[in-house]
Amino acid sequence: MYEDVPNSVYLTFDDWPSPITEDILKVLKEKDVKATFFVVYNDSPDAAKILKQIVEEGHSIGVHSTTHIYSQIYSSVEAFLSDFEVTASWIEEVTGIKPEILRFPGGSINIYNEGIYQTIIAEMLRRGYLYYDWNVDSGDAARYYSKHSIYNNVIKKVEKKDKAIVLMHDSAQKKVTLQALPDIIDSLKASGRTLLPLTNQVKPVTFSYVN
Ligand SMILES: [Zn+2]
Repeated sequence: MYEDVPNSVYLTFDDWPSPITEDILKVLKEKDVKATFFVVYNDSPDAAKILKQIVEEGHSIGVHSTTHIYSQIYSSVEAFLSDFEVTASWIEEVTGIKPEILRFPGGSINIYNEGIYQTIIAEMLRRGYLYYDWNVDSGDAARYYSKHSIYNNVIKKVEKKDKAIVLMHDSAQKKVTLQALPDIIDSLKASGRTLLPLTNQVKPVTFSYVN
C-alpha cells in the first residue's frame, strides 16, 4: 500500500504559521522543492491565505495542534481529540482538503502523554490518520544552535538513512533554520537525494508503531 521512493528525504516544518513562513516558501520555490508543514491553528485571514498558497505550491499539510500546550492536549484522550479536531476541520474548511497526516506535538511518545499515548495513537489510526515522527532531528528545537550546526546535523544524519524524515521548525525564533535551508537543500540534491512532500502513501517513521 505504501509507495516509498528510494533515497527520499522529507523536509518537515512544525508549528506553522510564523513570520518566516513566506521566506521558507520562497526558498522552497527557488530550489523547486516540496516540503511538509504541520499546522497550528490560526484563524487570521492572512494565515488562511498562506495556507492556501502552501497547497497551491504543491506542499503537504498535516495537523499539528490547536493550542500546542502540551499539559492541556495530553491531559486526557478526549482533550487531545478535541484539540486535534479544531485544526483538522479548519484546514479542510480553508483548503478544501481533508488532512490525512499528523505530527504529535513533542512526537508521538513524550513525557506529557505517558499512559495515554497508546489510546490516542489507536484512535487516530482508527480515524484514518497516519502520524509521522522523525528520524533526523535538525536540532533547531534547542535554544542555541548555529547555521553550521543545523546544516551538519541534517546532512550527517540523513546520510545514514535510506528514508529520512527531517524535523525542522517554522517559527519566529528559528530564523537560523531558514538561513541554513538553501545549503541543506543544495547539499541533499548534490548527494543524489530526492526531496518530497509527505503523503499517506509514505510509510510512517514512528517512535513506536502500535498496530
Ligand atoms: Zn510543535
